[in-house]
Amino acid sequence: MTNLHHISRGNSKTECFSFDLPARDTCPGMTKECGPKCYAATLMRIYPAVATKYARNLKLANSPEFVEYMIANIPADCQFRIHVSGDFKDADYVHKWIQICRYRPDVTFYAYTRSWQLPEIWKAIRALHSFSNVNVNLSVDDETGKPRVYNAKAYRWCYLTHNDSAPDWMRADDIIFRSNYSGHKRRRKNAEKKQLDPDTVAPLIHKLVGVVCPLERGRDIPNFSCAKCRLCVDKPKVLQHV
Ligand code: SF4
Repeated sequence: MTNLHHISRGNSKTECFSFDLPARDTCPGMTKECGPKCYAATLMRIYPAVATKYARNLKLANSPEFVEYMIANIPADCQFRIHVSGDFKDADYVHKWIQICRYRPDVTFYAYTRSWQLPEIWKAIRALHSFSNVNVNLSVDDETGKPRVYNAKAYRWCYLTHNDSAPDWMRADDIIFRSNYSGHKRRRKNAEKKQLDPDTVAPLIHKLVGVVCPLERGRDIPNFSCAKCRLCVDKPKVLQHV
């Protein structure tokens, strides 16, 4: 039985487990593009129990027990997202994850991070990503620009768009996330109610230089999840198109 005191079970969208920290406070690479629209920060504000859990997790992450606790409690053979909320807050913390991932080769770990912008943390992230069971995705936006750090081209870049445009420095196999996808989906549903063609009112968006996350193209996909998609989960060499 999984101990969910510190670890979180994903929803039907992700179907993975995660370890989460307080949003924004643990995000040294936060930008004006992601900070104000942070979904995790909104959840913390609406649900005090969520904020309490993430604060409790931060205490654990800063304690000497953290590595041992995670090695013992991450469920076997699962997909594990390092942070649905929060980010790699400092290099020491990344080194703790290096130890955890080394001792749990049965688990597939993945993460998104804007902390690549900080040189000390980036050095540690590169060591973490070098494990065959770990994939780190570089989160980018108009403020970070194209990642110009050592070996960034070997990583998948995940661009956050607010207006369904994407810069030409994104590559075909990178991923686009849309902060405006809920409104787009609503426009499609309203069109259907009025018996209009949703593809004319708000066409599905599959590609904007990079691949648009299938969950954010504008239509629900039954029984679909990150665990099935794996675009973000696996290292870029096994990138699939869906
Ligand atoms: S691209 Fe695939 S793996 Fe990544 S968030 Fe979207 S559904 Fe999940």
